[in-house]
Amino acid sequence: MAKLIDASEAADDISIQEAATALMAGELVVFPTETVYGLGAIVSNEDALRHIYRAKGRPSDNPLIIHVSDEEMFFQYAKDSEAASILINHFCPGPLTLVVPARDSLSRVITAGLDTVAIRIPCHPLAQDLIRATGEAIAAPSANRSGRPSATRASDAFEDLENDIAYCIDGGPSEVGLESTIVDLSVEPFQILRPGYYTAETLNLVFKRLGKYPKFQVVEAPIQEMAKQQGPKAPGMKYRHYAPETEVLIIEGSSLEKRISDFSKKCADLDPSDSIAAFVSSELASQLEARGLLDSVELIQFSSPVDASHRLFAVLRDFDQPNTRRILVESLDGDTIEIAYMNRLRKAASSKQEALK
Ligand code: AMP
Ligand code: MG
Repeated sequence: MAKLIDASEAADDISIQEAATALMAGELVVFPTETVYGLGAIVSNEDALRHIYRAKGRPSDNPLIIHVSDEEMFFQYAKDSEAASILINHFCPGPLTLVVPARDSLSRVITAGLDTVAIRIPCHPLAQDLIRATGEAIAAPSANRSGRPSATRASDAFEDLENDIAYCIDGGPSEVGLESTIVDLSVEPFQILRPGYYTAETLNLVFKRLGKYPKFQVVEAPIQEMAKQQGPKAPGMKYRHYAPETEVLIIEGSSLEKRISDFSKKCADLDPSDSIAAFVSSELASQLEARGLLDSVELIQFSSPVDASHRLFAVLRDFDQPNTRRILVESLDGDTIEIAYMNRLRKAASSKQEALK
């Protein structure tokens, strides 16, 4: 039976030490990071690594991200890379994962047989404490069953994985709420494999400032190309993600008026008795309210793109009830966190169609 360690308790070193001891003994531990919760196993124990795949129901060709405490530990698992060093010095610890050539000693269970490894240095203090307490990297994909929205609260991870973990450390809601940006440094030009908090533009600014650009250059992989991508570089990209059971539709439109009409169009085929849930900006909500379009709608409003990203996964989980007929979520325009938000939202919304294919 898993033990839940709450945020205040977890602040004490004994709880972290207990969880670290369980990890070192080959057990799985859920822990908070600034992006989403992670399902952790120690990298040196292949049985524990295989247990991650089993617990999540994750295909074995979908590689894991490993979490390290600092640059020195990063290069214990990665071969030397100047570009990686530069990005680590500017953005880490933080929500950025680097794909780099792996050292030969690293287990290929982590990399799904690839010779590259994805590594991140989380900045959450409890994640840092846990890694330092084990003295080794911790492999940790998002702490959810495969295909479900990622866990951004300890209770979500506990619900999905209770029977497979020794401890679940509760550090409160994840700050960012979307998974890290993944940038592949093993190809030229470097490629964003998964959009996140940091965009290609932000990463390139650093290379430009250091006079390394365009030798070092990050390009944004188009979403369509990413969905199709099934080559050996990123096998994980072919699996669907983030999907609730309930149908999710996106409210789109270049003006508030167009969004209002898109909203009513996307409710038009439903019976008055059908229950609808909506996650929209407070701006759109007040307009819908004024037109009487929210009378039987379970509503959650967001105040900004950062707030929407922070809460998206939790809202999708909370809305995903058996009697809910449809979930409507407002799209976001913009070229920073909005890119990552729309990437996750489109996956959640396309899952029904995908499942039918
Ligand atoms: P998550 O399932 O949320 O932990 O995200 C892990 C994702 O990182 C995987 O689905 C892959 O897409 C990506 N990834 C991990 N390792 C590699 C690698 N060596 N090369 C490319 N992508 C990777
Ligand atoms: Mg995941």
